[in-house]
Amino acid sequence: MNPNLPWWEKLLRRIKQVLFFWKAERGVWVFDLDGPLMDTGVFYERALDEFSRELFKIFDGKFSVVKILDKQHDLDLGMMYDINPRTQKPYLLHKSRFPLSLVRCYKHFCKEADVKFDRKIAHKLSSIGKKVFCKEEYLKVIRPEVLPLFRFLKNLNEKIFILTKGDDEIQGDKRKALEKAGIMAYCDGFFVVPNHKNAKIKEIKRKNPALHYYCVGDTYKEDVEIGMRLWFFGIYTPYKYNWKERGKFNEIEYYRDKNRSVRCSSIAEISSWFNTIKGA
Ligand SMILES: [Mg+2]
Repeated sequence: MNPNLPWWEKLLRRIKQVLFFWKAERGVWVFDLDGPLMDTGVFYERALDEFSRELFKIFDGKFSVVKILDKQHDLDLGMMYDINPRTQKPYLLHKSRFPLSLVRCYKHFCKEADVKFDRKIAHKLSSIGKKVFCKEEYLKVIRPEVLPLFRFLKNLNEKIFILTKGDDEIQGDKRKALEKAGIMAYCDGFFVVPNHKNAKIKEIKRKNPALHYYCVGDTYKEDVEIGMRLWFFGIYTPYKYNWKERGKFNEIEYYRDKNRSVRCSSIAEISSWFNTIKGA
């Protein structure tokens, strides 16, 4: 503190400091949803498996399953910023994007094989894509470690938020499944954002003074690194079905900031890691 300040200013500043630490939570946690808390990638794997086998059959094996899946992945990623004619906004994570990417992939191979595009087949492929939004199954894919971890953190007076990117309706259905599982009772907030998490993470931090901040996610660039830029400690939980970073795990591990983040194979490791650093 500046020694030239008048005594009353010094006193005021000290009171403010004490009030901040008195008000501050011990820690604030921001969890990503798909991947770390819910194994929703299995729905996409199942749909892509069915889709690629279907396409392989349609074109009599002319295109390999690997080639089909690679093309679908490129088209799906590329569609993020295409304009959705129904909404006049980019598709981003809108629920129509994935089923449509399967149809576009079929269209692409029709052109390549010089085969007529069949609307019935397109409809069938779109239906395969829509199967990923199976709200009846959401409860089954909640990771069993979530409830014990959230209980553990709440017992330590930590604040817990879930921040997820995606379609409001779809993520809302997942939230209902978390409620059924009793998990939302331990949550201080559940937020859905259409694309970037940056603004919401900032807002969570501003509204929740704390001594420590942690962000947990399976997409290093978009969940973990974004939090680390705002002085969160990153907890990276790589997920084999992560559609954006699969195949890049070694590369990510190479450049991951090891001082400001930790890598856990699953959220099950977080409580023991947390006990270790608290004891340190
Ligand atoms: Mg995720």
